[in-house]
Parts: sequence; structure tokens; C-alpha cells
Amino acid sequence: SAPEENEQDDPKLLAEHLATTGGKVVTRFPPEPNGFPHIGHAKSMGLNFGYAKAKGGICYLRYDDTNPEAEKPEYYKAIREAVAWLGHEPVAVTKASDYFEQMYAYAEQLILSGHAYVCHQNKAEIVESRQKRTNSPWRDRPAAESLKLFRDMRKGKIGEGEATLRLKMDMQSDNPCMRDLIAYRVKFHEHPMAGDAWCVYPSYDFEHCIVDALENITHSLCTLEFGLRRESYHWLLKALGIYRPVVWEYSRLNITHVVVSKRKLRALVEDGFVDGWDDPRMPTLSGLRRRGYTPAAINKFVDLVGVTRTENLVRYELLEHCLREDLGNIAERRMVVLDPLEVIIANVDAVAPAAQTVAAASFPNAAEGTPEAAMTYPASFAAGKIYIEARDFRLNDSKKYFGLAPGKVVRLRYGPVVRAVANDVDAAGNVTSVTVEIVTDESTLTGKSKKPKAIHWVGWVSPTTPPAQVAVRNYGVLFKSENVAAAPDWRADVNENSRVDLVGYVPPVVLNDLKVPEKHLQFERVGYYVTDVKSNALNQCCELKATNALF
Ligand code: ATP
Ligand code: MG
Ligand code: MG
Repeated sequence: SAPEENEQDDPKLLAEHLATTGGKVVTRFPPEPNGFPHIGHAKSMGLNFGYAKAKGGICYLRYDDTNPEAEKPEYYKAIREAVAWLGHEPVAVTKASDYFEQMYAYAEQLILSGHAYVCHQNKAEIVESRQKRTNSPWRDRPAAESLKLFRDMRKGKIGEGEATLRLKMDMQSDNPCMRDLIAYRVKFHEHPMAGDAWCVYPSYDFEHCIVDALENITHSLCTLEFGLRRESYHWLLKALGIYRPVVWEYSRLNITHVVVSKRKLRALVEDGFVDGWDDPRMPTLSGLRRRGYTPAAINKFVDLVGVTRTENLVRYELLEHCLREDLGNIAERRMVVLDPLEVIIANVDAVAPAAQTVAAASFPNAAEGTPEAAMTYPASFAAGKIYIEARDFRLNDSKKYFGLAPGKVVRLRYGPVVRAVANDVDAAGNVTSVTVEIVTDESTLTGKSKKPKAIHWVGWVSPTTPPAQVAVRNYGVLFKSENVAAAPDWRADVNENSRVDLVGYVPPVVLNDLKVPEKHLQFERVGYYVTDVKSNALNQCCELKATNALF
């Protein structure tokens, strides 16, 4: 069966193509290994792998590796890991560099067929003649001369910048991408995969369409900025007489408060604004992962954003919303106190010793009888001393305030109701400790006190030993502006306070949680956290609720 759509007007080429693909959709995700993949790449993966899957087709992971000076083995690795992490299964992993020999042969073929020539214009001259639509003085040199020079380029006899191979397209075209694009340039640079085999490398424009054709890609999906190159893409394949895929463009993903460009992300790393490509503030896939993002959350986000042909700026909150939806189901509940206020329980012995330790629910909303519902951890106030958040006590009570205040009652989550009976205040007027009494008979509570609000807390280990401590990192947005691209100087827009290091006071169970890599926790009334794979800390994933409108 013929593909739904095809560019191919040559029946023989179409027949060959169909014989190879069996009429299946074939796509590719083609990253350049010049940096760590970011959330924009997740969109590209979602489209390429997703479209192939939806159509019962196949998708390649193909490294677009023809700029050896920018590409590194660690980037190939990070890309491979990210693809697998998001659950995509490439039919094969290929590299543009696998086809260097074939591409070189095509280049010689183009010289002989009058479609390419060796040119000695330098960069500035090329730019100028493209603008003025004037031909290079070498455009009409004999093919034999170009062939000899091109072979000399390959042999390393011609210096960098002294010659390029250019496509003989149409210098009068209104499309600048048709004005004799560069096909090959000399680079005395080892290639991360091909080693020192080459000193001429194909350009993106030359390589991309050829590899698409060689891999029998049916739909070559790319971002809108490549729209102008569609004409040259098909021109070159036609000149070579090889199969022509359909090209579809879609808009790049942009998100508020971050940059989604490897160049800028690299600068953040190199200039020390962040601690590496996988810093939890980075919109790289490895950064998002350390921040606690799950594949489900990212894939959901990519789906929601969808495919458009207009440039837009998606709100960061949408990404967080997708994360919350997933973590709400998988994160075990714990209690943490980040800003401690000491609370003394004056009458702790009024409660039987066995009742001084309560079973806190790991999944309070789980349906009864499910394994989740059975998961609890102990929370103890047996030492007669606990921490609560400083914000949960106020000297002056008010109507909309649900915390503790002098004379007022609250419930210690999973535990008893307590009433504030005294407090200490330092010279500056700050409350330094509160004394409470357990309400032993809750039936005595009347009016509003009948249903006191519950606050989170953590018990001391003994009257002299505070609770366990863990390192906690809270994060703010990486850039102050919503639209970073519109900021006059994107570097000056970096939020210097995007990471806040805190100490969390926790029940002992959290020390075990820390031993589990990438474990998600919901600290009740505080936020979602994840164990950091590179340290003994907990990284904040997001707050419990959106603080802004979503769209
Ligand atoms: P960057 O400018 O960040 O380097 P790129 O386009 O050069 O991005 P590649 O690694 O060459 O990145 O791209 C791999 C694929 O991912 C391409 O098809 C590219 O169009 C797509 N892609 C890259 N960034 C985005 C984005 N922000 N939104 C959607 N697709 C993207
Ligand atoms: Mg690129
Ligand atoms: Mg780019």
C-alpha cells in the first residue's frame, strides 16, 4: 500500500522505498549530541516516537553528529538515557557519522553531475554574495577541477577555511536557503565516533536529508525554523536521484522562566550559574529527573502541549501541574518541619505510653483494604517535646488562621488535640517555645474547637535529642522573567536565589527513604520532594498546589 502522503514522483524510487518499509510509517528523533537533551527534545521524541507508534510504524534514534568540535561521547550517552527513560523504543540507534563514506560518494557524484563545486570564498564573501545574489567566481569551474580539489580537501591538503564544497542551486532564488548552500567544510578535528578518519565534514543541510532518505524516513518532522530549508532538502535528494521523505514542521516548545536551547543551557553550566547539566533547576531531562519529574509527567505535558504551527510560550505551571497529578498517586506521605518551633507537651503522661506513638498514614487517601492503605510509619511524641512549623503558632489569633494561638486547640496530625497554655518570647518579641496540654477528653470540646485543624509535627527522639535532620533543597524559578528570550540580557535575568538550602526535621523513617534512589515523598502541608541521586539530600519537586493560574 502506498503511504498516505508522499513526495515521491518517481515510481521506481517509491517502489524501492515501499519494498523496504512495507508501507509502514518511519520517523526519526535526530538530536545533535552537542549537549544534554531538554524538555523541548521530549516534545520532539513525543512526536516522532508517538506518531510512529500511533501508525504502527517505527522510529530511529539518530545522532545528527557532523560538528565534531561541539559533540562529545557524554552527550550521546545522556541522549540515549533520556530516550529510554521516557519509555521510547527506537527500532535502531544510528548516527549521521555512520554514513560519512556514503555521503562522501554522493558529494563526488554531485560534482560530476554539475550540482556541486569547490569554492574558495571565505565566510564574509559567501554572506555578501548571497545577499547580493552574485555567483561565486568558482561556480562554473570544470567538474574535474572541483573533483581534484575536493579529493585534496579530504586528504588534508587544503587548510580550514580555504575551500568548501558548495551546492550549485539557484543564486537568484528568493529563498536564501537555495543560494548555493555549503555541503562540506574542512575541519581538522577528531570526531567523537569516527575518530581521525575525516578532515572534511558534511553540513547539516547536506547530511540531514540524505540520511533521512537512506533510512527510508517517511515523515521528517522538524521545527518551524527549518521551514525555509524544505526546498533545499528536496532539491538535494532530487539532484541525487534518491527517495524524498515528506517534511513536516511544528513549533518549538518554549516555557516561561526557563531557556530551552542547548547553547544557553551550556552557558549556564560553563558560567557556573548551576551545578552541571543535571542541576535540578535545569529544564534538561536529567535535571528534571533529579528534580523529581517522572516520565509519566513529562509525557503528559508533551501531550497536553500538542503539535502546533504557531510559536507559543507555555506556562511552567503546566509542567508542574502534570507532575503533581502523577506524584499525588505515587508519593508516600511523611511529615517534615522546615522552620522549627519547639513545643513542650506538659501532660504527655496523661496519654498511655502505647498511645504516645501514632501510626501516620503513607497514603491517607488510599481505599480501605488496598496495600497502600496498610502503609504507615510511626510518629511519636513520647519525649514530650515536638517541633511544629513556626508559622503554625501566632500570638494573635484571627478568623482565617487555623494554627495554634494562646488558649486555642489544634490536632497534631494523626495524634491528639492539644491546647496552647503558655509560651516563651525572647527580647525581640519572637516566640521561642510553646507549651501545650493534650486534651484528654475530646468530647469536652465545644463550638469551633470541636473540629480542630490538623497541623504537621515531628517528635523529639528523647527530651534531649531532637528529631533526625536531613538536607532539603527548595527551588525557585531559574529566570526572573516569564519570557526569558525577550529579556534584554538573559544572563542578567538568572534568579540568584533559585536554590535555598534548608534543614528538615523528620521522623526516623525518612532516613530509610533516603537510601532509596529517586523516592518521591509528599511532606504533608509542605510540598513534594524526591531523594537526590547525587547526595544525601531531598530535592523539592514542586509545591502541593499551584500558586498561579495555569493558562
Ligand atoms: P538546541 O537549539 O537546543 O540545540 P536543536 O534544534 O539544535 O536545539 P537538536 O538536538 O539538533 O536540537 O534537535 C533534535 C530534535 O529536537 C530536532 O528535530 C529539533 O527540531 C527538536 N527540538 C529541539 N528543541 C526543541 C524544542 N524546544 N521544541 C521542540 N522540538 C525541539
Ligand atoms: Mg542544534
Ligand atoms: Mg539549535
